[in-house]
Amino acid sequence: MDKKSEIHTGGCLCGNIQYEATGTAVVVAHCHCDDCQRASGAGHTTGAMFATTQFTITGNFAEYALVSNAGNRVTKVFCPTCGSPIYGRNDGMEGFVTISLGTMDDSSGFEPEVVIFANNKKPWDIMNDTLATFPTQPEWSPKTAR
Ligand SMILES: [Zn+2]
Ligand SMILES: [Zn+2]
Repeated sequence: MDKKSEIHTGGCLCGNIQYEATGTAVVVAHCHCDDCQRASGAGHTTGAMFATTQFTITGNFAEYALVSNAGNRVTKVFCPTCGSPIYGRNDGMEGFVTISLGTMDDSSGFEPEVVIFANNKKPWDIMNDTLATFPTQPEWSPKTAR
């Protein structure tokens, strides 16, 4: 199957939420920001960004909105039953969603490209330092990528 028509399915721990993302991710990033650490309970999240038009979700989901340190409104979408973090939206990147890669049924074909907010990385969260690493959020926009 060619990459543009690839369908990636995923869902939450309890099975309430199912989603589909079509095609290739704009970027795959590890994020060590404080919000991601708290929302995931882990040292970093790994998110795959897709255009909103490439993404559909079914099931009963809940949202939590916060203002990031950069001043953007970030909305976390999660399962109200099992708590799985499914995806996030950021009004600084309108038209895109960042899917929690660990919720995908088969994410083995994805490769991380960048590490962001490394200034908040915990010493126990051992990463691959050959990846492009940024102390905070680099100047980057999905509109200028690829
Ligand atoms: Zn669930
Ligand atoms: Zn983050």
